Amino acid sequence: MRLTFRRFAAVLVRAACAILPALALPAAAAPPGAASPPAAPAVATVLRCGGVVDVRAGVRRPGVAIVVRGERIESVLEAGRPVPPGSTVINLADLTCMPGLVDAHTHVFLQPGDYDAQLLKQSIAHRTLTAAAAARDMLMAGFTTIRDLETEGAMYADADLRDAIDAGVVPGPRMQVATRAISTTGNYALLGYAPEVAVPKGVQIADGADGMRRAVREQIQYGADWIKFYGDYRKFLDTGEILDLRVTMTEEEARALVDEATRRHRPVAAHCYGDDAARLAVKAGVRSIEHGLFLDATTLGMMKEKGVVYCPTLTAYRTSWDEHPTDAWKSVVDGHRETFKRALRTGVIIASGSDAGSFAHRDAGRELVLMADYGMSPKDVLRAATLVDAELLGWKDRIGEIAAGRLADVIAVEGDPLGDIEAVRRVRFVMKGGTVFRPAGAAGASAGGAGG
Ligand SMILES: [Zn+2]
Repeated sequence: MRLTFRRFAAVLVRAACAILPALALPAAAAPPGAASPPAAPAVATVLRCGGVVDVRAGVRRPGVAIVVRGERIESVLEAGRPVPPGSTVINLADLTCMPGLVDAHTHVFLQPGDYDAQLLKQSIAHRTLTAAAAARDMLMAGFTTIRDLETEGAMYADADLRDAIDAGVVPGPRMQVATRAISTTGNYALLGYAPEVAVPKGVQIADGADGMRRAVREQIQYGADWIKFYGDYRKFLDTGEILDLRVTMTEEEARALVDEATRRHRPVAAHCYGDDAARLAVKAGVRSIEHGLFLDATTLGMMKEKGVVYCPTLTAYRTSWDEHPTDAWKSVVDGHRETFKRALRTGVIIASGSDAGSFAHRDAGRELVLMADYGMSPKDVLRAATLVDAELLGWKDRIGEIAAGRLADVIAVEGDPLGDIEAVRRVRFVMKGGTVFRPAGAAGASAGGAGG
């Protein structure tokens, strides 16, 4: 096992060296060198913005300039204030600046299309290179931070991608990763193959309290920032009909899993479509409930009381309905929308996460549009995708708003997202940690598609 992984790592490094030029950034957007993080430079960079969204206050301030030195925001200057002498000025006067977006539920190792084929026919090296391109697409779409919630069979390669991005080897958002995720025997793909055929699994399968503890320890050993488990599992028919939505774990197993993660200071995210799994997960002490398609007032009340975050991932199911416009998919989307509205009324903390990977990563901004469409005010949507997500990730002092001392994660969009939330899908400029990754005017997507 260990030897195999090392051999894979060597292959991966060779493959990455061969293909890196293909992932190169647009001109003038070179990432920082791998070995030496830049020392705070004497020369400041000033972003002259047409306006800046103050997500905390929920207002757009016109004519503001953002002073960036090194990787951080040094100051935010109201209109008309002088900028530091000798600064490099970037003109974004036609655009609205805002904090880099956070997506709290992604799968950069998963691509739209045949799930089984990705696990059966693509090497982990191939999937890792594809994941690097997906991560780059998310960055170009304005997501400067993501919580990537499992590799879907690509083992621990998300930890490698996270570290490669941090080292400046490839461009991408800051990442927190969950590595493999955990479910129980019979409760995750690949399923349906003959018992004598060994097939890979999209998650780590574990059973019993001891099995949970062992899986958690192993995932943390190989780099997990989060532990994710499947509270329930289902089979969707092509029609969208859900077959046999079942709770995967006993209370004893869920408690052991959360206890072991907590001992190692790792928060837990639980995939739960229905009430039974969500209540079990909340009682076990998870930090967030993912998807929550069908949650009633009692479950949402429990979440509110314990401060458990709801991460709805609306886009995944809306995309499925777009692609399969059946009555069954409509009922999934209708139920999800009702849960979202109920969560708003209940006052549950709502994060923004899209489940990108089940659809094209560059479309992750659609999540914010759907949240507004389902009844959240644009200013609360922008808070969810910045301040709330930053707090969920434990990074509220580093990211999530444009303020002195925060990391310089700044994007600029066409229009005013407070008045027209669709503006978040018109990203025209991306800076992460003080480095420009997408200059204004550069194309956004890696595969030649439309940007933003
Ligand atoms: Zn997911």
